[in-house]
Amino acid sequence: MSIINVAIDGPAGAGKSTISRAAAKEMGYIYIDTGALYRTVGLNAMRKGADVNDPESVIATITDDLKVELRFIDGEQRMFLNDEDVSDKIRTPEASSAASKVSAVPEVRKYLFDLQKNLAKSNNCIMDGRDIGTVVLPDAKVKIFLTASPEARAKRRYDELIEKGMDVKYEDVLADMIKRDYDDSHRAIAPLKQADDAILADTSGNTLEESIALIIKIIKDNI
Ligand code: C5P
Repeated sequence: MSIINVAIDGPAGAGKSTISRAAAKEMGYIYIDTGALYRTVGLNAMRKGADVNDPESVIATITDDLKVELRFIDGEQRMFLNDEDVSDKIRTPEASSAASKVSAVPEVRKYLFDLQKNLAKSNNCIMDGRDIGTVVLPDAKVKIFLTASPEARAKRRYDELIEKGMDVKYEDVLADMIKRDYDDSHRAIAPLKQADDAILADTSGNTLEESIALIIKIIKDNI
């Protein structure tokens, strides 16, 4: 039986992780959230006191003893940094911003590339990120570019953060979203862009359930 890989890329807050997780469950595949890998490297850089705007300073935190691991516990992905479960700690706005900055450093992308490749090689999976269909899994069986308007995405992210008890303002979340979109799509290495052979799915006017159903249909129609 050959392995089936589904690549889902798109900007922050398009609902990639919630939709991909639900679709993976329906298909019986594992779900791999690659943003969590960049967030973990970003958290590590912050903890080591690196200047995340300075590539050399970030590169100095990618040491031989650095351990970034993705483990599946009860079928859910958890992120471990040097054996500490940091799955919740990587979700703060500071970690988001650090992730976006460190992800522009080629050495960081190289460091995480093999990890992503190896996971996909041995598992039917839905992998989501920014460059999965273009760089990490160019031969993925199905590629989807999942997007929504910046306002719709900011509103969803804001609701999520409030739900988690964080003290944030919608305007700040929107500004952060627009800044990250710009940085992600204008960086020199692996910028966020739709692969030529990816199917575009815009979820702006959809409920979550509608978006999940749409993505499952696209996957089933294309495998
Ligand atoms: O998806 P998420 O918001 O968790 O990603 C955090 C950051 O990691 C993004 O802003 C993006 O800069 C970076 N990223 C990336 N390539 C990926 C996944 C995430 O550059 N495949």
